[in-house]
Amino acid sequence: MIDTPHGSRTIKRTHWKAWQMKRIAVLTSGGDAPGMNAAIRAVVRTGLEAGMDVSGVRDGYAGLLEGDIGYLSRRDVGGILQKGGTFLGSARCEAFRTVEGREKALANLERHGIEALVVIGGNGSQAGARDLWQMGFPVVGVASTIDNDLAGSEVTIGVDTAINVALEAIDRLRVTAASHRRAFMVETMGRECGYVALMAGMAGGAEVVVIPEREIPPEVVAQRLREAYDRGKSHALVVVAEGARNNAAELLSYFAAHQPSTGFALRATILGHVQRGGAPTASDRLLATRLGEGAVSALLRGEQGVLVGLRDDRVVMTPYDEVVGVKKEIDLDLFELARIMAL
Ligand code: ATP
Repeated sequence: MIDTPHGSRTIKRTHWKAWQMKRIAVLTSGGDAPGMNAAIRAVVRTGLEAGMDVSGVRDGYAGLLEGDIGYLSRRDVGGILQKGGTFLGSARCEAFRTVEGREKALANLERHGIEALVVIGGNGSQAGARDLWQMGFPVVGVASTIDNDLAGSEVTIGVDTAINVALEAIDRLRVTAASHRRAFMVETMGRECGYVALMAGMAGGAEVVVIPEREIPPEVVAQRLREAYDRGKSHALVVVAEGARNNAAELLSYFAAHQPSTGFALRATILGHVQRGGAPTASDRLLATRLGEGAVSALLRGEQGVLVGLRDDRVVMTPYDEVVGVKKEIDLDLFELARIMAL
């Protein structure tokens, strides 16, 4: 038996490692992603089940520097599974990039008796987690970003919802595009990664998809749209990733300058943060639950300095060295498939 803020509890024999690691903390960092709440819930409930105490850190690394850390009970994480965002809050924190900042974070973790940290977040957040781990603190990461640009996981928590939000906008714009014979463009978020634009564009039947991994010049975009009309289509839709050189702003200015020659105007919808806000899809909730459990299991096995992700539908751990600073490639065969489907 151990004494915890929630009373005494018997630790299962199979979880003997938990006897060694009594207290863990969880935080969400970087851009919020739908499903982060489900991941926090999974970390808390599997941690408690294993006999650990689990604390939540408010506002990511900023809260770690402030020492804004408190116990979480099973009930504290009730009713959040279906909500987008993160109830712990998230923030960008420049101070955490410095050694002094991370030393302050370590001192706060020690003061609260925390022995390991679960970091739910994207590329930058996992870089910060790796730095903390290299300073000797046990850390496990959970792959969560709407960009899906994290090596070590085929899909990340939040990307399925982001694709579906983008798809809903595309479907709606297609209706009005067909009614008015107008060309529309949707710009998706995703930093330097075109994954969301490609997937949403393909699922939404876009005539042209523009992504940073395969740039298309504006004159070719215009030509493809014109050809779509010439083939008898009643609508023409472009899906462009924000990170593309020829993103929405660039394409708009090209079409404004060349309207007489292109023959039609292009209207743009920039999804921006709307894309982050959806309630997590079933797929994201299930992924988050599996990865959150995977993080606690990794700690119970004594693993640290790894990212928990999904590969071939299996929860896998990848060492931070193979994740941080490693560019994740997207499948360009799908880009070609999207082009063929648009003909
Ligand atoms: P998303 O891409 O989904 O928005 P992210 O995790 O990539 O999420 P970032 O803003 O890149 O978001 O990083 C979040 C935080 O992680 C930063 O504010 C900073 O505190 C920390 N961080 C980022 N990069 C590093 C680094 N190289 N070293 C230490 N800490 C870092």
